[in-house]
Amino acid sequence: MSGYWLGVDVGTGGSRAILLDDRGREAAAVSVPHEEMVMEQPLWAEQRPENWADAAFEAIRGALAAAGISGDQVRGVGLSGQMHGLVILDRDHQVIRPALIWCDQRSQPQVDWINQLLGAANVLEHIANPMLTGFTLPKLLWVRDHEPQRFERVRHILLPKDYVRFRLTGELATDVSDASGTAMFDVVRRRWSLEMMDGLSLDRSILPRAYESADVTGAISERAAALTGLASGTPVAGGGGDQAASAVGNGVVEAGAVSCTLGTSGVIFAHMERVAYDPHGRVHTFCHAVRDKWHVMGVTQGAGLSLQWFRNQLAPGMSYDELLAEAAESPAGARGLYWLPYLMGERTPHLDAAARGGWIGLTAKHTRADLIRALIEGVAYSQKDGLDLVAALGVNVASVRASGGGARSKLWRQILADVFGEPVVTMASNEGSALGAAILAMVATGEYLSVEEACRAIVRERDSLEPRREEAKVYAEGHAVYRSLYPALQPMFSHYRALGSPVGGGA
Ligand code: ADP
Repeated sequence: MSGYWLGVDVGTGGSRAILLDDRGREAAAVSVPHEEMVMEQPLWAEQRPENWADAAFEAIRGALAAAGISGDQVRGVGLSGQMHGLVILDRDHQVIRPALIWCDQRSQPQVDWINQLLGAANVLEHIANPMLTGFTLPKLLWVRDHEPQRFERVRHILLPKDYVRFRLTGELATDVSDASGTAMFDVVRRRWSLEMMDGLSLDRSILPRAYESADVTGAISERAAALTGLASGTPVAGGGGDQAASAVGNGVVEAGAVSCTLGTSGVIFAHMERVAYDPHGRVHTFCHAVRDKWHVMGVTQGAGLSLQWFRNQLAPGMSYDELLAEAAESPAGARGLYWLPYLMGERTPHLDAAARGGWIGLTAKHTRADLIRALIEGVAYSQKDGLDLVAALGVNVASVRASGGGARSKLWRQILADVFGEPVVTMASNEGSALGAAILAMVATGEYLSVEEACRAIVRERDSLEPRREEAKVYAEGHAVYRSLYPALQPMFSHYRALGSPVGGGA
């Protein structure tokens, strides 16, 4: 049946709306930037949920206008968004405080408390992952511990895209892939973990209903119709966390498929037919946006963020393209310079919120080109660590599908291919999460029978970069050096932790 489907991605930097026609072709795509995240203290990070909703609504209006269609031609809406963020609502559904977002690392004491109370091994069994500062639950407990008056008012918690869903439909709901990153979800059984909630004496009624990603969770309300231009009653699908949705948009929905998404954070993501998890929790096992499938992922906290930080602090006014052109002046290996991307601590493979970033190996001969080159190589090494762990869980990597802002750069993609020793493929559409969200809407409304079928019909490869032999050799050696740096520096990172504030101390 003819018509259009809308995918809305609530990212960190902005919200994006794309429209697909009934053949899965893009009819329009519009982004609206968010306010910069507020970082009141080192490694704190907050954003206003109301700002996400305003930006998402504006992007939806923009996409309808750009495609020149009316709201009643849109047959379904899918949502994706930055994961792990904590949105808290009071009994009148008002936002109580700004959201602590994915990269906020303030909650180590709460993580320790959970592990002490429940036992780290039990936590792993309940949620298939270790407790991490990035997850939603310890953020909620931080609010309990530091802002008890606000905590008392909490009646509902939501994830970032699900706050936008609430504003679109009035429903308090999430999907299994996004719920997986809360540390309150039983990933193996695909339901909320009553063991976690009861074990920590938390009220289960604050949890939204969790749906499979391609299920319908509600419909556009009259009020939202007036604000967005969509028709009231238009179905809204569960959608997915940005990583699962991006995997759908890149066709990573069948055995052996792996992707690398270089956004603000960098994610290695692999589809899994049967659930399995790393006993050390260095990679995360979450529910996939594909019914009854899972995925495993490794995360570099400061991937695109490294380059963004560099640009903001050391090269204001320059574009990313200009920075990457400068990096091309430096040879593979950046003349012995290394970058540790731990600007927001690190997840994979170190699980250390106290890790700090920096260049190692500087000499007076190094240029700014070397600094940038080392930076993008360091991000690639960190992603390679994730890829190695995924392979160790039995995923048979044939090629890696790259997406996200960083993958716009051919140089960065070539470096990834050289470091991974695998072909790096880009897809015809660079939309990732927003495309995945729209595809999930198509499946939810019955346009396709399954996510796999939809991806086979819609997702196309564009080009493929093979690893270059000489560079791959340089990077194999470079990766070994890179891997030696974290253990060497760890005593110094422990020093930050020992200063009392686990992540911000001494800054
Ligand atoms: P998110 O959705 O996480 O906000 P994006 O996928 O938009 O992030 O990626 C943003 C990051 O991508 C930037 O921080 C920057 O490092 C990188 N980036 C954006 N454009 C380019 C480019 N043309 N070349 C290289 N890197 C880029």
